[in-house]
Amino acid sequence: MIPYGRQDISQADIDAVIQVLKSDFLTQGSQVPAFEQALANKVGAQHAVAVNSATSALHLACLALGLTQGDWLWTSPITFVASANCALYCGAQVDFVDIDPQTYNLCANKLEEKLLQAKAENRLPKIVIPVHFAGQSCNMQRIYQLSQEYGFKIIEDASHAIGGQYQGQYIGHCQYSDICVFSFHPVKIITTAEGGMATTNQSALAEKMHLLRSHGITRDPQAMTHLPDGPWYYQQIDLGFNYRMTELQAALGLSQLTRLDEFVKKRRMLAQHYNQAFSGTNFTCPYQDEETYSAFHLYPIQLCLEKLKKTHIDIFSELKSAGIGVNLHYIPVHMQPYYKQKGFNRGDFPIAEAYYSKVISLPLFPSMTQAQIDKIVSSVKNIVI
Ligand SMILES: *Cc1c(COP(=O)(O)O)cnc(C)c1O
Repeated sequence: MIPYGRQDISQADIDAVIQVLKSDFLTQGSQVPAFEQALANKVGAQHAVAVNSATSALHLACLALGLTQGDWLWTSPITFVASANCALYCGAQVDFVDIDPQTYNLCANKLEEKLLQAKAENRLPKIVIPVHFAGQSCNMQRIYQLSQEYGFKIIEDASHAIGGQYQGQYIGHCQYSDICVFSFHPVKIITTAEGGMATTNQSALAEKMHLLRSHGITRDPQAMTHLPDGPWYYQQIDLGFNYRMTELQAALGLSQLTRLDEFVKKRRMLAQHYNQAFSGTNFTCPYQDEETYSAFHLYPIQLCLEKLKKTHIDIFSELKSAGIGVNLHYIPVHMQPYYKQKGFNRGDFPIAEAYYSKVISLPLFPSMTQAQIDKIVSSVKNIVI
């Protein structure tokens, strides 16, 4: 089976991890700060906070922005559940904004409509999480303008999008957001096995996330309520978690980061290859907005079911049987039983639901061989009829 995504681990990556294994520190050493600094430099952000997953980064980002009971967080229904769950961890409530039918990203026009209505009903969101679906940036300039007008904070869920760009800047630069979150799960663009990072240009937010990732404990006398009792002293000044990234993960991340541009270039070349091979077929290839440079985490195709003899399920199953590890991104979050039980229904976000009924993700990862690409292209052409 050709997987839909997989990591690319070099000998240099392996050597970097082994070196840490032989060193004094497996956690809380020099690799994590070095990875944070290197990533912040790469994307052009002032601060970066490394954690054990993007899910943890989203949680800390919400806490740092003060999300709490009685607050609302809005995100896209076409995302992984973690983009919404982070609000519930903070005791806040979740709502969704339907997607743009072309980019599959949270639609800025729909966002404006919903904000107008929410203002009238006095239930404006405290945070909006645009998700850069498949690696392509949302319309951040517009969403930022709306945030100024309606007073909400922005966390970019860039789990798919490290190495991607918007208006010529790397995603993570935070010119239109408070915090940007990356994932380093093995299917994403670069990996630390498990891991995540939050970037920000606001030092207070970075400090807060830093504190909360390690129990809410500080060794900084400036942050303490009184002078240290002695050289052993630390203080817990908030309720935090153990969301730390290990030294092994950071060493892997640092090594992977040196190949980020190469990975993205390869992904874009493969996507281009698909685009050409599939022109004139009965499905839609991913649309690209001219202000964006997508990292191409995913290559979702939308079937024109009205022109096809087969159903969505038939095509998906036949591709699987042919050894093509197709996947589906995503089941709309509001249609998950856990969210339905909170009052969401089928029909609430019709564009997301229509998209779900006809989308399939094809395999895409940098180490794909020509033979694999040829097999995927010919199977898709034979099966999607
Ligand atoms: C993968 C992913 C996450 C969660 O990332 P983890 O590092 O696995 O916690 C969150 N949001 C989106 C959009 C993702 O794709």
